[in-house]
Amino acid sequence: MAIEQTLVIIKPDGLIKSLTGNILSRLSETKLIIIGAKVVQVTDKLAREHYKHLMDKPFFEELVHYIMGDVHHTHRVLALVYQGENAIAKVREIVGDTNPEKANPVSIRGAYGRITTSGVFENVVHASSSPEDAEHEIKLWFRPAEIVGLVYPMKDVVMEKVIEQEWA
Ligand code: UDP
Ligand code: MG
Repeated sequence: MAIEQTLVIIKPDGLIKSLTGNILSRLSETKLIIIGAKVVQVTDKLAREHYKHLMDKPFFEELVHYIMGDVHHTHRVLALVYQGENAIAKVREIVGDTNPEKANPVSIRGAYGRITTSGVFENVVHASSSPEDAEHEIKLWFRPAEIVGLVYPMKDVVMEKVIEQEWA
C-alpha cells in the first residue's frame, strides 16, 4: 500500500461546536502521523479555489460563506496534513459520507453534521478524496516550510524586496 498524504480541515462548525479534540481523537485511531497543522483565516479566494469543482452548483455562494466562517461568526478553520499508508481512504472512512444524513452515524459527519434549511451540508470536516486532490489541496493550503518532511518536490526561489512581519 502506498504512503499518502491527505488534507483535513476542521470547518468553522467543527470549531464553534468544540469538536476539535473529539475529531483529532477519532483521527488518531488511524495511526497516521500529522506532518502539518495550522489555524487559517480562509479568504474568499482560497474558498473559491478549494471548492472550484462545485462552482456551478446552486449552493456554491453559501458554501463559500460557510467555509470562510461567515455563517458561524468564527473566521478560522484548523488545517492538518496527515501522512501514512492508505491515508486518504482511512481518513474518509472515519469522516463519513458528504451528506450527513446518509453518513454512517458513528462517522464524524454522521454524528455531528447537519443540513441547513438552505441545503448546505454543514459536515464539520473536510478530507481529501484522491491522491491528485490531496496534492492540489495541500499545495494550496500549505507552504513547503510548513510541512515536516519532504512530501512533494520543491524548488529554490530567490525573493527580492519581500516584506515580512516580525514581532515588534
Ligand atoms: N456540499 C453541499 N451540498 C452538496 C455537495 C457538497 O453542501 O450537495 C458541500 C459539503 O460541505 C461538502 C463540500 O460541499 O463537504 C464539498 O463537496 P464534495 O462533493 O467535494 O464532498 P466532500 O469531498 O467534502 O465529501
Ligand atoms: Mg471533495
